[in-house]
Amino acid sequence: MAWRLITHACGHQERINVDGPYVIVEQRVRKAEQSPCAACIGATNRWDNAQSGFCPLWGSKAQRDRAEPIRRRALNQVDILAVHARIEDRDAFAELRKQVLRRDDAAWWIEHKTNAVNILAQDIEL
Ligand SMILES: [Zn+2]
Repeated sequence: MAWRLITHACGHQERINVDGPYVIVEQRVRKAEQSPCAACIGATNRWDNAQSGFCPLWGSKAQRDRAEPIRRRALNQVDILAVHARIEDRDAFAELRKQVLRRDDAAWWIEHKTNAVNILAQDIEL
Protein backbone atom coordinates (compact mmCIF):
# COMPACT_ATOMS: atom_id res chain seq x y z
CA MET A 1 0.00 0.00 0.00
CA ALA A 2 1.19 3.50 -0.80
CA TRP A 3 0.83 6.31 1.72
CA ARG A 4 1.30 10.03 1.65
CA LEU A 5 1.73 12.39 4.58
CA ILE A 6 -0.75 15.24 4.22
CA THR A 7 -1.47 18.33 6.33
CA HIS A 8 -5.08 18.95 7.35
CA ALA A 9 -6.67 22.41 7.45
CA CYS A 10 -6.19 22.38 11.24
CA GLY A 11 -2.42 21.87 10.84
CA HIS A 12 -2.35 18.25 12.00
CA GLN A 13 -0.69 15.70 9.77
CA GLU A 14 -1.96 12.32 8.75
CA ARG A 15 -0.74 9.46 6.60
CA ILE A 16 -3.41 8.67 4.04
CA ASN A 17 -3.75 5.79 1.63
CA VAL A 18 -2.97 6.85 -1.96
CA ASP A 19 -3.68 3.56 -3.67
CA GLY A 20 -6.11 3.72 -6.57
CA PRO A 21 -6.80 5.77 -9.70
CA TYR A 22 -4.97 9.11 -9.84
CA VAL A 23 -8.11 11.27 -10.08
CA ILE A 24 -9.74 9.62 -7.05
CA VAL A 25 -6.57 9.76 -5.01
CA GLU A 26 -6.06 13.45 -5.82
CA GLN A 27 -9.66 14.15 -4.75
CA ARG A 28 -9.13 12.26 -1.51
CA VAL A 29 -5.92 14.17 -0.80
CA ARG A 30 -7.47 17.55 -1.61
CA LYS A 31 -10.53 16.82 0.56
CA ALA A 32 -8.30 15.76 3.48
CA GLU A 33 -6.14 18.88 3.12
CA GLN A 34 -9.20 21.14 3.11
CA SER A 35 -10.84 19.60 6.19
CA PRO A 36 -9.77 19.35 9.85
CA CYS A 37 -8.49 15.99 11.13
CA ALA A 38 -10.85 13.52 12.86
CA ALA A 39 -9.62 14.52 16.33
CA CYS A 40 -10.33 18.21 15.67
CA ILE A 41 -13.78 17.43 14.21
CA GLY A 42 -14.55 15.38 17.34
CA ALA A 43 -13.41 18.20 19.59
CA THR A 44 -15.57 20.69 17.65
CA ASN A 45 -18.63 18.46 17.97
CA ARG A 46 -18.06 18.09 21.70
CA TRP A 47 -17.71 21.86 21.94
CA ASP A 48 -20.95 22.34 19.94
CA ASN A 49 -22.72 19.94 22.28
CA ALA A 50 -21.49 21.79 25.34
CA GLN A 51 -22.71 25.05 23.76
CA SER A 52 -26.19 23.74 23.02
CA GLY A 53 -26.41 22.03 26.42
CA PHE A 54 -26.32 18.38 25.29
CA CYS A 55 -24.85 15.93 27.78
CA PRO A 56 -22.17 13.51 26.50
CA LEU A 57 -23.64 10.34 24.98
CA TRP A 58 -22.94 6.86 26.34
CA GLY A 59 -22.42 3.89 24.06
CA SER A 60 -20.04 2.63 21.41
CA LYS A 61 -18.63 5.12 18.91
CA ALA A 62 -20.92 3.69 16.20
CA GLN A 63 -23.95 4.11 18.49
CA ARG A 64 -22.99 7.66 19.44
CA ASP A 65 -22.51 8.61 15.77
CA ARG A 66 -25.98 7.28 14.96
CA ALA A 67 -27.63 8.83 18.01
CA GLU A 68 -26.18 12.32 17.58
CA PRO A 69 -28.30 13.46 14.59
CA ILE A 70 -31.39 11.81 16.13
CA ARG A 71 -31.23 13.82 19.34
CA ARG A 72 -30.40 17.02 17.44
CA ARG A 73 -33.51 16.49 15.33
CA ALA A 74 -35.53 15.86 18.49
CA LEU A 75 -34.31 19.12 20.02
CA ASN A 76 -35.28 20.98 16.83
CA GLN A 77 -38.75 19.42 16.99
CA VAL A 78 -39.16 20.49 20.61
CA ASP A 79 -38.03 24.03 19.82
CA ILE A 80 -40.48 24.29 16.92
CA LEU A 81 -43.34 22.90 19.02
CA ALA A 82 -42.45 25.26 21.86
CA VAL A 83 -42.75 28.31 19.59
CA HIS A 84 -46.34 27.35 18.82
CA ALA A 85 -47.19 26.23 22.34
CA ARG A 86 -49.80 27.97 24.47
CA ILE A 87 -48.41 30.17 27.23
CA GLU A 88 -49.56 27.72 29.91
CA ASP A 89 -47.60 24.91 28.22
CA ARG A 90 -44.30 26.79 28.09
CA ASP A 91 -43.00 25.28 31.35
CA ALA A 92 -43.79 21.79 30.14
CA PHE A 93 -41.86 22.43 26.92
CA ALA A 94 -38.92 23.79 28.86
CA GLU A 95 -38.96 20.55 30.86
CA LEU A 96 -39.23 18.48 27.67
CA ARG A 97 -36.22 20.33 26.24
CA LYS A 98 -34.26 19.52 29.40
CA GLN A 99 -35.16 15.84 29.04
CA VAL A 100 -33.84 15.82 25.46
CA LEU A 101 -30.56 17.43 26.51
CA ARG A 102 -30.16 15.08 29.47
CA ARG A 103 -30.96 11.73 27.82
CA ASP A 104 -27.46 10.29 27.50
CA ASP A 105 -28.10 6.73 26.35
CA ALA A 106 -27.14 6.42 22.64
CA ALA A 107 -28.96 3.08 22.33
CA TRP A 108 -32.17 4.71 23.62
CA TRP A 109 -32.01 7.41 20.93
CA ILE A 110 -31.46 4.82 18.20
CA GLU A 111 -34.34 2.70 19.49
CA HIS A 112 -36.68 5.71 19.61
CA LYS A 113 -35.43 7.52 16.54
CA THR A 114 -38.93 8.12 15.17
CA ASN A 115 -40.82 8.81 18.41
CA ALA A 116 -38.29 10.11 20.94
CA VAL A 117 -40.14 13.38 21.53
CA ASN A 118 -43.48 11.59 22.03
CA ILE A 119 -41.99 9.14 24.51
CA LEU A 120 -40.33 11.90 26.53
CA ALA A 121 -43.49 14.00 26.41
CA GLN A 122 -45.53 11.13 27.90
CA ASP A 123 -43.66 11.60 31.18
CA ILE A 124 -44.50 15.27 31.24
CA GLU A 125 -47.96 16.80 31.45
CA LEU A 126 -48.32 17.84 27.81
ZN1 LIG B 1 -6.46 18.49 13.80
